[in-house]
Amino acid sequence: MMTIQWFPGHMAKAKREVTEKLKLIDIVFELVDARIPISSRNPLIDEIVANKPRIILLNKADMADPDITKQWVAFFEKQNVLALAIDSQTGTGVKQIVTLTKELLRPKFEKMIAKGIKKPRAMRALIIGIPNVGKSTLINRLAGKHIAKTGDIPGVTKAQQWIKVGKELELLDTPGILWPKFEDEEVGLKLATTGAIKDTILNLQDVAVYALKFLATYYPERLKERYSLVEIPEDIVALFDEIGKKRGCLASGGLIDYDKVAELVLRDIRTEKLGRLSFERP
Ligand code: GDP
Repeated sequence: MMTIQWFPGHMAKAKREVTEKLKLIDIVFELVDARIPISSRNPLIDEIVANKPRIILLNKADMADPDITKQWVAFFEKQNVLALAIDSQTGTGVKQIVTLTKELLRPKFEKMIAKGIKKPRAMRALIIGIPNVGKSTLINRLAGKHIAKTGDIPGVTKAQQWIKVGKELELLDTPGILWPKFEDEEVGLKLATTGAIKDTILNLQDVAVYALKFLATYYPERLKERYSLVEIPEDIVALFDEIGKKRGCLASGGLIDYDKVAELVLRDIRTEKLGRLSFERP
């Protein structure tokens, strides 16, 4: 997992870099996590992207609650933003990106043809998103073959490279990386629950408390089933105790090891042991 320290200077630099890239492209593919489509967005994204055509890609839709994902697509479309649920790992929905892009950019390219340009250039796209949302996975998927990662070579200025996606679309090989909305504690907890930020950044037990309370409210049956609970205790410590006892998360002296419980629950969530979960609803 990539860890980026987002200090104000880094944020300013990231914004600058994305703004420069935007000059080269016709359309933005904004990648978000389908399980947390708002918390996995950059807070300034609308301002930064401004009036470029855009498609919101709800990535990792394979892990999200399918009904909620449908609601999100409708939610964005109501705001006149095209949204598409995809799974970059297996490629589900990825072909549709090209189809939608063509539809969206047709007027612009028809104008070019009307002006006498016989063979318009390829449509150019940029993928933007916060770290770990799946940008590299999607680039590789769209490219159709694995692209070697080229690190920064000191002293060598790398020109922007274009990746061909079929005949009509080109993709910038380096995505635009922006930061999430850290200031909001709940955003941080959601990013940690889904594994988008490292477990060392937030307190593991805090994250598990948040996740378990969420599950108890929105997915009580799955929580009961996974940990063989007859009832879900109201008290969060009692819930930790029950799960710990059932799963043998014990410290010396037979006490419950709360860190172990937290780890287990978060691992179960991230590996879909509780099924497909969405942590944000429109
Ligand atoms: P980046 O930092 O935005 O470039 O993110 P990566 O492409 O490195 O992906 C981060 C993690 O998410 C990796 O472990 C990927 O395998 C995983 N991932 C990416 N896309 C998907 C997806 O659609 N579904 C699932 N289940 N995992 C994904």
